Amino acid sequence: MNASDLRVGQGFDIHRFSDDPDRVLVLAGSVFDGERGLEGHSDADAISHACSDALLGAAGLGDIGMHFPDTDPAWKGADSLTLLRHVVGLVRSEGWEVANIDCAVVCERPKLAPRRDEMQSTLSEIVGAPVSIKGNRAERLGAIGRAEGVACFATSLLVRRPDSRVSHPEDTEQDAP
Ligand code: MG
Repeated sequence: MNASDLRVGQGFDIHRFSDDPDRVLVLAGSVFDGERGLEGHSDADAISHACSDALLGAAGLGDIGMHFPDTDPAWKGADSLTLLRHVVGLVRSEGWEVANIDCAVVCERPKLAPRRDEMQSTLSEIVGAPVSIKGNRAERLGAIGRAEGVACFATSLLVRRPDSRVSHPEDTEQDAP
């Protein structure tokens, strides 16, 4: 494997809590009953959005705003897991496999730990690789610290699929007797 067979990507997303009592809080596809929902054109799943952006960034395929513009009624109320699944398909079609995604979620609420396994397994199943989710509080600093929303940072690693690898001169040299 050559260094050019690896790509790292970073994604960030933040959504504010909604005043609409009918909005449902969805994070990594899990519904948190009894919690305030987040504002957004789609279901506002900040974790899935950050993961999608990390994958698109790693593959050099732009960002989710480009692929799913919030001016397009097609994505109104969209299930963000569907968007993530679509992104994984795009990344694969470019010859990449996901190695892993690591997420740092910053929020005062909800408590993520009790739902962590469920969220990780939902996202892992979609991307076909381990997804880790860590919850962090903002220690009362800033908007997130005042419990006004949820932010997520995601990092992804992509590995070029063997069938789409180009041969590198240095690989040939290593194989030579
Ligand atoms: Mg978003």
